[in-house]
Amino acid sequence: FNGSKGHIAHADAVASNDDRRIASSEQVPKKKKVVLLGTGWGGMSFLKSLNNPNYEVQVVSPRNFFLFTPLLPSVTCGKVEARSIVEPIRNIIRKKNVNISYSDAECVKIDPNNKKIYCRATIDSHSKGEEVFAVDYDYLIIAVGAQVNTFNTPGVMENCHFLKEIDDAQKIRKNVIDSFEKASLPNLSDEERKKILHFVVVGGGPTGVEFAAELHDFVNEDVVKLYPNVQDLVKITLLEATDHILNMFDKRITNFAEQKFGRDGIDVKLGSMVTGINENEISTKVRGNGEKTSTPYGMVLWSTGIGPRPLIKEFMKQIGQGNRRALATDEWLRVEGFGNIYALGDCATVNQRKVMEDISEIFRKADKDNSGTLTVKEFQEIIDDICERYPQVELYLKNKQVRNMVDLLKEAKGDAAKESMELNIEEFKSALSEVDSQMKNLPATAQVANQQGAYLAKCFNRMEECEKNPEGPPRFRGTGRHRFHPFRYRHLGQFAPLGGEQTAAQLPGDWVSIGHSEQWLWYSVYASKQVSWRTRALVVSDWIRRFIFGRDTSG
Ligand code: FAD
Ligand code: MG
Ligand code: MG
Ligand code: MG
Ligand code: MG
Repeated sequence: FNGSKGHIAHADAVASNDDRRIASSEQVPKKKKVVLLGTGWGGMSFLKSLNNPNYEVQVVSPRNFFLFTPLLPSVTCGKVEARSIVEPIRNIIRKKNVNISYSDAECVKIDPNNKKIYCRATIDSHSKGEEVFAVDYDYLIIAVGAQVNTFNTPGVMENCHFLKEIDDAQKIRKNVIDSFEKASLPNLSDEERKKILHFVVVGGGPTGVEFAAELHDFVNEDVVKLYPNVQDLVKITLLEATDHILNMFDKRITNFAEQKFGRDGIDVKLGSMVTGINENEISTKVRGNGEKTSTPYGMVLWSTGIGPRPLIKEFMKQIGQGNRRALATDEWLRVEGFGNIYALGDCATVNQRKVMEDISEIFRKADKDNSGTLTVKEFQEIIDDICERYPQVELYLKNKQVRNMVDLLKEAKGDAAKESMELNIEEFKSALSEVDSQMKNLPATAQVANQQGAYLAKCFNRMEECEKNPEGPPRFRGTGRHRFHPFRYRHLGQFAPLGGEQTAAQLPGDWVSIGHSEQWLWYSVYASKQVSWRTRALVVSDWIRRFIFGRDTSG
């Protein structure tokens, strides 16, 4: 960022010009400026896939490295080293043929009317005070992620650990080891030792469960050798407010995990809401009977979900999305109402278009001869477009196990279908009436952010084409394949490491399997997903080191 005002003003003028004029003018058009906020999964994936040299990209993020979050729980007990799962952002951008610069700063305000963002440098902030600088953009990509959600529970911020950033994992690791050292000091009563060694995990999602499993393995594999005198005083409690841990997984996995934790001596308390935490005790209320308990603890990990960052909350208010939990975009990942602002990953949610909202229009376009009814032929001509524009239709057909939409319509028509297959609008509506129930919000995962980043980069790689089609694919316009597709998520499956070298895997098609070989699958998938050969080598050597020498406990 060179801050030259004239340069920016010029960019602005060009950007606001009519596109056709630029294209026909003699001079080379100025590169359009893309500003990317965030260097997490969404941002990194965008940068890795972008290869259109016609852009000038400026990355703004308070974190100058990418963090491989799925291995963050492994750092908490020393299975993997912190430095092995981070990749400097400058390593990633220097390899590109695109002009990309990076500013170590945090965006504090978005001004969509003037196509500007305001940023505050995150390095050396004490030397220059609160210096805010502005950056202009032609396109803004928001990939700032989310923050932990405390649900305003008193004492959480002050007394709990979180597991979101690399510092968090390092703090946890130090705290775990310190706890064992502290509990091993002389002159403590057993009560005091028990309190120090009571580890509480709040939230039975994948992160909480994996941390509990990590900690349990650590105690069984290393603590027994290193701190044999206190090993029996260790207690791990997992508090979950709903009826089951790992809610988002298949029942078989949930059951297996609950039983395994039971056998391992991890105290899983279901239906247990945390009402407050002070320096010494954590208070809970049992859902249902309202029974209240306070228990002394040594350390709490709070892992109950995410909420929007202040920047996003503020921006949503500005643009009339104030009561939402994430920034709403259309299926091309454009923030609703803006053609040049995109959002992806944990800070955003894709608003899928409902078939029912457009049903009359779909019918009208399909009914080419204006007869008021649809024939099979008329219908078949738009099936592909409908499935592409409304992915829920395809999902619905799959779940109903019918081959295509014609079958579905025949079903709706009953016996009459045999004689003539023509539908009026009411029959058409009723055939598709259930389809929209298939729409689901995408989960806040690295897998989603990663695919969205790659998708968006592809859009930018082909932006010239896109600009000619600003509304996305012209709906139901034959079967031309040159159009621009809406974002489509492909679920590749999910792992839940459960400790003891066992992992649960849930792959597409509800294929579930749990055991030791899945742990090896986990190792190989996570090794292959590393962003660079450097981190891949580091992670694999950490795993090998741990197998041979155990965890490093020099916190
Ligand atoms: P992030 O990756 O969080 O990146 C946000 C970026 O924006 C960061 O670089 C941040 O510094 C930056 N930023 C923040 N504020 C600003 C600002 N004001 N201005 C500019 N930049 C800003 N998902 C899976 O699919 N599989 C897993 O196994 C898995 N395990 C996980 C384990 C843990 C412990 C955690 C915490 C998450 C895990 N996830 C997993 C979820 C996954 O990490 C997130 O869904 C993913 O990181 C979302 O990507 P993102 O780009 O939206 O946000
Ligand atoms: Mg990101
Ligand atoms: Mg990340
Ligand atoms: Mg999202
Ligand atoms: Mg007709």
